[in-house]
Amino acid sequence: MDTLTTSVKKKALELGFADCRIASADVEADDGFDRWLAQGYHADMDWMARTRDVRQQAALKLPGVRSVVVLAWNYYHPDTPPLPETGKIARYARRRDYHRSLLKPLKHLASYIRECAPDEACYASTDSGPVRERAWAARAGLGWIGRHGLVIHPRFGTWFHLATILTTVPLVPDEPIPDRCGNCTACVHACPTNAIVTGRLVDSRRCIAYHTIENKGPIPDEIADRLGGWVFGCDRCQEACPWNKRTGMAAAEMDERERTFPSLTAKALLALSEEEFNRLYAGTPLMRARHAGLCRNATLVLRSAGDQRP
Ligand code: SF4
Ligand code: SF4
Repeated sequence: MDTLTTSVKKKALELGFADCRIASADVEADDGFDRWLAQGYHADMDWMARTRDVRQQAALKLPGVRSVVVLAWNYYHPDTPPLPETGKIARYARRRDYHRSLLKPLKHLASYIRECAPDEACYASTDSGPVRERAWAARAGLGWIGRHGLVIHPRFGTWFHLATILTTVPLVPDEPIPDRCGNCTACVHACPTNAIVTGRLVDSRRCIAYHTIENKGPIPDEIADRLGGWVFGCDRCQEACPWNKRTGMAAAEMDERERTFPSLTAKALLALSEEEFNRLYAGTPLMRARHAGLCRNATLVLRSAGDQRP
């Protein structure tokens, strides 16, 4: 491995990333993404279709791109407080918004690459730019794409965020790792809305995570009746995955605010004013759905639970 590749990986770990692997940018487009779009599995996330070309051809985003630095940011912690049955929030969202917490180390790493190679360019993003992060992660051998469509890291399971840096620097690529799902179908059976379809894809139109976070309109009854207590996101497929249930998984650091993240029942959520909601959840991913979205979800959760629970 050349010196720059080694030092970029070392720097990434120093900055708090859990893993760093490299993909060569010189690869063909990702069939899975095109099939996902063609089937309409992106629901009303039209920006996915609009940015199809730039996602499939990284050179449209960064002319002369040679490498993709793929980074994992662990967010797993075994001691997160239990959630009320009618107020479940996806594990990643019980923390500071990762778009913010990753930005500083990510920009720092991109600056480091530019310092080492001053004539070269970088484009850094974490779920914020038109970059097909999962495909790059698989190509770099950071993990493999599980049946539930998420990247599984051999050490961190799926409890991590992905970030990437496209760069014109020719770094030494890593090899992909084999698929380790084997004959398992636990996630497919755990999904309450049959959203996991063939080809390691998820049909967003049936996915609770999509509806409770991204869908700004009404949630179809067929999905709303199966929310199972989830008011923001859904971790059912991840919780069922044996790669996420191993003991002794590395715990990420949490600050005091994250340790005391308010876990409210659906009824308690509905009782919050918009101002109280904003004060309690400022800086967390819940702000994406806003007070109105959480209230809609909480109302449907109570409806599907017969409105009997505390
Ligand atoms: S997030 Fe929930 S609804 Fe979506 S695929 Fe996973 S289990 Fe199914
Ligand atoms: S639950 Fe099983 S099939 Fe699904 S992603 Fe995990 S290992 Fe793969």
